[in-house]
Amino acid sequence: MNIVSYPSPNFNERLPEAGGKPDMIILHHTNMASAELALERLTDPASEVSCHYLIHKDGTIYHLVQEKERAWHAGRVSHWKNREKINSYSIGIEIDSLGDIFTKPQMESLVALIQDIRTRYEIPNTHILGHSDIAPDRKDDPSEHFDWEYLGEKGIGCMPDHVPLLDQIPPTLEIQKILQTIGYAIQLTGLLDDQTINVIKAFQRHFRRTKVDGVVDLETAGRMVRIKELF
Ligand SMILES: [Zn+2]
Repeated sequence: MNIVSYPSPNFNERLPEAGGKPDMIILHHTNMASAELALERLTDPASEVSCHYLIHKDGTIYHLVQEKERAWHAGRVSHWKNREKINSYSIGIEIDSLGDIFTKPQMESLVALIQDIRTRYEIPNTHILGHSDIAPDRKDDPSEHFDWEYLGEKGIGCMPDHVPLLDQIPPTLEIQKILQTIGYAIQLTGLLDDQTINVIKAFQRHFRRTKVDGVVDLETAGRMVRIKELF
């Protein structure tokens, strides 16, 4: 693993209620034209953003913030299960990409980095998530081109191992309850409102990448049911 130290001033202490050490990993893509521009922004005090690691297209890993500190990658509003302010709980990894391509060296470095982080902290597979999972109203990274299945083959993250065949698509309220049980922040309105469509899209972006349209079909619903069991 080729790790380059590239310190960012943009960090502070993890909240004490988060237990002082990370047990989640949040993945991002930078959505910037180059790693160099992203590094400039992630180390600029005026930007007030950072991450623990950035992975260049060539596979080089830049280390910006110490793991024990809280980096500022997840945004002020982020939720998962009963948690908010996910920065306090997580290690943030940015992948240098516009969301179109994630290179092989990048994916290999990502796997090695996560395996290495896991020698220091207990991070369950259900706690390896995308930014869009924890902030579905605002964020769509990493994009549907990010290969979660590849991570799954390496024992990282949680993907549906099989998909139950449902007779019918559950009503919207039931879908909302399933998504809430998985961990998504969603109001149980029974309506196909904007927040619900955004969460359905976030689910699909991670667990059904070939259909990210906010519309629940039988396959998407089956995957939701299975992921609910796994989470
Ligand atoms: Zn992000």
